[in-house]
Amino acid sequence: MTQAVPRLDGQVVLAVFAHPDDESLACGGTLATLAAAGAHVVVMCASHGERGSDIGPVRNDALGLERAVEMRAAVAALGIAELRLLSHPDGELRWAAVTDFNADILLFLRRHPHASVITFGEDGLYWHADHIGVYERVLTAVLSLGSEAPPLYFVTMPTGVMPEVVTAAKARGWLPPRKGFWSLVPESFGLHAKPHSITIDVRAFVPQKLAAILAHRSQMGADHPFSNLAEADARRWLGTEFFRRADIPGRPGTVLEQRCT
Ligand SMILES: [Zn+2]
Repeated sequence: MTQAVPRLDGQVVLAVFAHPDDESLACGGTLATLAAAGAHVVVMCASHGERGSDIGPVRNDALGLERAVEMRAAVAALGIAELRLLSHPDGELRWAAVTDFNADILLFLRRHPHASVITFGEDGLYWHADHIGVYERVLTAVLSLGSEAPPLYFVTMPTGVMPEVVTAAKARGWLPPRKGFWSLVPESFGLHAKPHSITIDVRAFVPQKLAAILAHRSQMGADHPFSNLAEADARRWLGTEFFRRADIPGRPGTVLEQRCT
């Protein structure tokens, strides 16, 4: 007998990430799952991603505006209720606007004292400095609330997943680009990350997750390995997401635990 899936009406979930596309790639399936169960899901994105995947000295504000449009499409595809797209400097999130970004997070948490929070772990998925900066800001804000700290979940990626995706894509004739996200060494994803403790089955939401990933067209382009993914592969690689609950004092919470498979 199938157990009834608990509803989450009235629950608020804040997901904090660095760039447009982080939310979809890291845990788009979970965000869609929570939204479909009735949670009010809010994505707070620290930057417009105006430097793209090439972190360099030049801002490209036209790209930032383009990515804002893509982000709205991705959020809509996932059924997310609210987007807070901030304008902190892409590529400098670990060092710039530290107090402002901290205040953005803290203000939200004070106004939503029953929220749960999802963000990057200390490895930033693949040691991206901006992602680590988001982890630091969120953790600082959450810890400052002491015994009233919200349940905090870190999204993680087990090692081996990304190399498998890349290997399979290469077997279909895909060639990694020389720059950008998909030029990253696939083994760096999840490298030295702390093990996950929560596994969420999001296979039912793979179409929404894939649509959200593909909505970030300026980043994915035509040369990404998901461009001609077989449905079975999409379900296998995109259908499970992994988290770790932060071991900190604070309020109890079960938003992700009760979805755990
Ligand atoms: Zn990112």
